Amino acid sequence: MTATTKIANPRDIAHNVMALINELNLQPTPQVYHVFYSYISDEIPELSQLIKVLIRNTQELDEETVFRIYHKYLGSHALQQHLNQGVEGLQAAVERVEEAVHSVMRDTEMFCGEFDTASRKLSADDITLEDARTVSQTLSGTTTKARECYGSFNGSLEEYHKEVRRVRSELELVRRDALTDTLTGIANRKNFDSSLRDAVTTTMETGVPLSLLMIDIDYFKDFNDNFGHRAGDGVLKAVARVLVSSTKGADTVARYGGEEFAVILPDTSRENAEKLANKLRSNVSNQRIINKKTGKDFGKLTVSIGLTSYQLGENILEFVDRADKALYLAKQDGRNTCIAQ
Ligand code: GH3
Ligand code: MG
Ligand code: MG
Repeated sequence: MTATTKIANPRDIAHNVMALINELNLQPTPQVYHVFYSYISDEIPELSQLIKVLIRNTQELDEETVFRIYHKYLGSHALQQHLNQGVEGLQAAVERVEEAVHSVMRDTEMFCGEFDTASRKLSADDITLEDARTVSQTLSGTTTKARECYGSFNGSLEEYHKEVRRVRSELELVRRDALTDTLTGIANRKNFDSSLRDAVTTTMETGVPLSLLMIDIDYFKDFNDNFGHRAGDGVLKAVARVLVSSTKGADTVARYGGEEFAVILPDTSRENAEKLANKLRSNVSNQRIINKKTGKDFGKLTVSIGLTSYQLGENILEFVDRADKALYLAKQDGRNTCIAQ
């Protein structure tokens, strides 16, 4: 299946995308699907050319490569498109509301004029019954017109509010995307940095304890060497899942980098952080790593954890460095252990 085989029907494209993903033995994740959808429908020439070359050498076309392609051609592309559409939609809605405001102001002036004339006619001393009837009919017509005019103005306002809500939720999606690690779906490093800044500020303001865990997978290089990078990626996802399911809402579980994770524990004393760290360590080590697709059993993996609590007045770097040092000591201590500093 190549990008040059033009297929216009979305159903046919979807069918061919799935066939190709299966043929290449890839997981049909949203990103993988998006990349191959773009390839099959030949949306972006550079992406199509790159995939064409990579397909010739299936060795190179693993999920990590596809992820990179997604982010290069579609991630930011999609992001930009979202933002552009959002801004254009909002601009159009603002223009429509401006027009509606002008029109309602013009109409209001006209209605006021008509009401003034009617009022003048009605207060004339020599008004006849016939005149009063005519004025009353005119007034009734004007009231109907005014009602219609304000009704359509309300419609424009509602449309505008709908557009604002749509753009707001689009921006929220974009914001969330920018703070999420694509492989594991947990907070990324940028998210970790800002969450830690916020948590430290809160602790400085309130004095409630704050603890931090640095977690590193033991002998992960050997795992990658033995079972391949893709299996390694699966392990990163599995470890992230265990960490998330073993912590509570206020905690931030982040991918700090490579095979290293961090957990920010607001309102948590060093003693409680130590208990949690041991629970996390044991939950990971009890997990059997099995490839869902092939059923292949990769055995078990362990993590080492360094933990520390924030000391009032210190800067963030000192705080993180101490957790890092504790992690280093945990590795020195033989791994699959947890050290507090
Ligand atoms: P230690 O017990 O001392 O931590 O040993 P280690 O082998 O885990 O540590 P080392 O730092 O030597 O190796 C880390 C490995 O993590 C090497 C790198 O290939 C792997 N790694 C980092 N990021 C990723 C990733 O995104 N996916 C995969 N599959 N592997 C990764
Ligand atoms: Mg490691
Ligand atoms: Mg490491």
